[in-house]
This record gives sequence, structure tokens and C-alpha cells, in this order.
Amino acid sequence: MGDFWSLLKRFVPPYKKYLALNIIFNLLAAVLTLFSFAVIIPILEMLFQIRETGYHYMRLGEASLKDVAINDFYYWTQEAIAAWGPTMTLAVLAGVLVVMTALKTGVTYLSSYCIIPLRSGIVRDIRNHVYDKIVTLPIGFFTTERKGDVMARMSGDVAEIESSIMSSLDMLFKNPVMIIVCLATMIALSWQLTVFVLVLLPIAGVAMGRIGKHLKRKSLEGQEQWGTIMSCIEETLGGLRIVKAFNAEGKMKTHFHEETQKFYTISNSVARRQALAHPMSEFLGTVTIAIVLWFGGTLILSGTSSINAASFIYYMVIFYSIINPAKDLSKAAYSIQKGLASMQRIDKILNAVNPIQDPATPRALPKLHGEIEYHNVTFGYDPAVPVVIDASLKIRPGETVALVGQSGSGKSTMADLLPRFYDVNRGQITVDGIDIRQLRVHDLRSLMGNVNQEAILFNDTFYANITFGVKHATMEQVIEAAKIANAHDFIMASEHGYQTNIGDRGCRLSGGQRQRISIARAILKNPPILILDEATSALDSESELLVQQALDRLMKDRTTLVIAHRLSTIKNATQICVMHDGRIVERGTHEELLALRGYYTRLVEMQSMK
Ligand code: ADP
Ligand code: MG
Repeated sequence: MGDFWSLLKRFVPPYKKYLALNIIFNLLAAVLTLFSFAVIIPILEMLFQIRETGYHYMRLGEASLKDVAINDFYYWTQEAIAAWGPTMTLAVLAGVLVVMTALKTGVTYLSSYCIIPLRSGIVRDIRNHVYDKIVTLPIGFFTTERKGDVMARMSGDVAEIESSIMSSLDMLFKNPVMIIVCLATMIALSWQLTVFVLVLLPIAGVAMGRIGKHLKRKSLEGQEQWGTIMSCIEETLGGLRIVKAFNAEGKMKTHFHEETQKFYTISNSVARRQALAHPMSEFLGTVTIAIVLWFGGTLILSGTSSINAASFIYYMVIFYSIINPAKDLSKAAYSIQKGLASMQRIDKILNAVNPIQDPATPRALPKLHGEIEYHNVTFGYDPAVPVVIDASLKIRPGETVALVGQSGSGKSTMADLLPRFYDVNRGQITVDGIDIRQLRVHDLRSLMGNVNQEAILFNDTFYANITFGVKHATMEQVIEAAKIANAHDFIMASEHGYQTNIGDRGCRLSGGQRQRISIARAILKNPPILILDEATSALDSESELLVQQALDRLMKDRTTLVIAHRLSTIKNATQICVMHDGRIVERGTHEELLALRGYYTRLVEMQSMK
């Protein structure tokens, strides 16, 4: 329960106003409930002729307020019977009951009306928090926590919180008010009976609590399994082409069905346990009522009690109106357990520590020259298994340094260290002599432009994709960038020019076109430092030529770290570093390296054989 309060403390404050209104309306509803039932007492008493007549009108102050109110109520009823006859009086009192109930239900509606913005608001806030966190978390986070699982938390778990915790909120703020008001009335009617009831209720409560215990753990399991299913779907949608090409539909189906089967088993167990809540509370509620009936009846029959038969019936009616809220309360407690399990999963994302932090006192970069230096850098995704070992290299302003080497030798990893997608384990990387960890991450990244093997584009227009990451760009600048990137012509040839939508991840474009858009984007950003990671290796020779031309224009006068698969494209680099198993094993110009007749020569020979 403590978790639940802290959850409320975290998310409710912006909605205090709604909560206050909700509580006020709930209070009103509770009071109206009491009065609407109170009308029944005189009806019953007069009908059964239990009460003698002969009431005199009392004025305020003659007795206590309560006595005056009761006395005058009987007086007016008695007068009404005398004047209109019992049938008519009964009808009038029934009318009063209807009006009171109409008021009561109206107020109940208002209380729900006020709690709804709180409910949807909290859910919206949680989603936004998670999204904001996802965007700030480092890339490394999403290799361990799989994408599908994150999506499951975003959708399934947030929905679970909405349905369980938030719908329970309503009950939590309504029912306690109802229960307190009713209990107060019950004590006023007969304290002996009420003491008896107060002993009984917690016993029933404990019995109920037993069942709820395992619900949270089971529910957690269920949500986790849901995450696995989402990952499965995500992976399948992404790899549908391969699934079909390898005739693996059957295998994928079997795998998926196994996962949904597991989910089926867990869901059953959760739902069954939850379904137990209702019959359990119903049964325990009725048992409690039976015991109270017996005890109250004995009190009346013995004649020693202050309570009479009509008040006892009223007492039972009030008591009955406690039973329902109490039942709802216990049901809410069950739901909360389920919701808390989901909250726990969401908090795993929200509380994830971002290891890539801004320094406490960031250094400002005055005028950038763009000199980059790696000083004995060692890094491993798992620190125990380094994939870049003791690597040093220096790129002077405006120069181009190329990294070559076999696939898996650590080239991309080297490049990812520069914009701090990961932090080095040992050594340091400096820009103009300043350790990149002393710069603000935002400042550091604004210095750099990236073009990767896979052009990453968004489902939007050419214009929006090129201006992505640039705040104020004029149309002239965009066209200029597109022209330099050899992209202007094919953009203009498309249906709506720059306003043409390029489809999901640019699926309506060829590989070379996508790459040229991402180069235009880098040109528009105009960064002093450039990182090119196999920008041309996914392309055919013809588009490679166009892209290479665009890249050459982009690299002009910028400090560039280029990773290239095709050695022909980096012949002109100032320096070429050959990586092998995470180490830089050779360095020099193309001619110098060829003269060494080592790793580089072997790479060149392997390529010319193709
Ligand atoms: P290259 O770009 O030279 O082909 P990478 O830098 O991509 O090589 O990879 C170097 C090594 O690091 C490889 O052994 C690869 O398996 C490993 N690796 C790459 N990315 C990750 C990652 N996100 N998590 C764990 N290991 C990785
Ligand atoms: Mg790579």
C-alpha cells in the first residue's frame, strides 16, 4: 500500500483541484444517501403504527438540534396524515425519497466527472515521462531492454495502470467518505451494535487480503510475458522479408504460439484469482449481515437496547450501504496490486540511470578548430570484453582519417565513442584538447554530423527529413544542401517536390536516394566534425558514384573520421588506420601501408579478388 501512496504523491499534485472537488461531491453524496433513507423510518413507523401520535411542534432551542429536527419531522408527518390521509402522505414521502435520490445520483455523477481528468491526465503524464526518458537514455540501454518490451511497457503497462489504479482511485476517494459518514450515523443509532460490527469487518478484511497476496507477482509475470510477445511481433514485422524468403512462417508461428500459450496460462491464473474477489466479498458480506441481524435482533428482543425495530431497519439499510463500498474497496485493493506490478515495470525505465551525463561544470567551447584525439582508448560493451583496445589517433582540423579493417574489428565502436553514444572505459577522447566528458553532451553532438550505412529517415516529407535537427532553415538553404548532395533532381521529380512524403523510414526511396537525403541533412547542419560510417557500402556502383561525389563535397574543410569498406573510396585520406581485433595495427597513407605489406595489403588484395 505504501507504494500506492507514493505513486499518488508523484502523479496527483497537478490535479489537486479535481481531487478536492471530487471529495466534496462525494461527501455531499454520502450525506444525501443518509437523508434519503432516513425518510423511510417515519413511513415505516406510521405504516406499522409502531409510533404513537401526539407530537407537538417544537421551536429551535427548546431541545438539542437533533431532537428538534426528529420531533418536528414526526410532527409534520403526523399533521400530514391527519390532513391528507396516510395514503397521500406515503406518496409525498415517496416523492421526497425520489427527489433526494435524484440529487444524490446527480452529485455522484459530478464527483466522477471531476475525477476523470485526473485519471486520463495521470496516464498521459506517465506516457510522456516514459517517452521523454526513452529519448534521453543512451543507445546502449536498448540493446539489453528490447524494443518490443519497451513498447509493451508503454502500451500494456500504462493501460493496466489506467484500468486498475486509476479506476480504483474513484473508489478510494468515494468509498472511504461513504464509509465514514455511514459509520458515524451507525454509532449515533446504536454504539453497541457498531462496536460489534467494527470487530467483525476487519476479520472479513483479513480473509480477503489473503487472496490478493499472490496477485501482484502473477501479474508481473503476465506483463513480462506480454513484453516478450511484443518483442516477437516487432522482430517479425522487421524481418518479414527474411521470414518469407526462408519459408520460416511455420517456425515463427510455432514460436509465437508458444509465447501466447504461456501468456494464456498466466492470464488465466491472474483473472481467476481476481474473479475470486467478488464472490468472496459477497459471501463474507452476507455472513457479516447475518451475524449483525442476529445480534441486533437479540438486543431488541431483550428490550434492554436503546434501539427499536424501525431504527434497526434503518441501521441495517445504512449498514448495507457500507457493505458495497467496503466490497469495492477490497476489489480496488486487488486491482491496485495488479497496477503496481505494471508501475514497477515502468519505473524500471523511468529510474534507469543514464551513464552519459553532463558534467557538473561544463566547459564552453570557444572557437572550434576541430582537432580530435583519441588517447589510449579502451572500451567494451561489457567492460570485461574490450572491443577497442588502447587505441590512439589524432585528426588535425580539416583532415580526414580513415578506419579500415575486417568486419567486427571495432571500427563503428570507435566512431560511436566520439559523440558519446558510449563512454570510454579507459583513456580519453579530446576535441581541441578538451576531454569530451567535460563538454555538455548537447554541445558536443551539435559539433558533429553523422552519415551511416543505413540512412535513418522518418516518415515525413523530404523537407522535414533534411531540416531534421536544424531549427531555422530557409527553403533556399535546403535546396542548396540538396543540390550539393545530388538529391535536388530526384526530389523535384517526385510528385510534390520537397513536400513529398517519403514513407516509413524512406521505404519509397532507393538506397542511394536515402543516403543522399541523409547527406543533405548533414550538409545543412554544417558541422565542423563529420563521422562517416560505411556511408557507401550498401550501394550499387552507380549510386555510389553520386553519393561519393556528395560526400567529397561534404568532407571538404571538415575534420572527418571515415570508416570505409571499399578501400578505393579512402585512398585520399590523410591517414589510414588499420584495425584488427580492436587494436590499431598499422597506420599511414595508402602508399606507405602498401609498402608495409601487412594487414592493409591483405585487405586490398582480398578486395581486388572480388
Ligand atoms: P565493425 O564496425 O568494425 O564491423 P563493431 O565496432 O560494430 O565492428 O563491433 C566490434 C565488436 O563489438 C564486435 O565483436 C561486435 O560483436 C561487438 N558489438 C558491436 N555492437 C555491440 C553492442 N551494441 N553490444 C555488444 N557488443 C557489440
Ligand atoms: Mg561497423
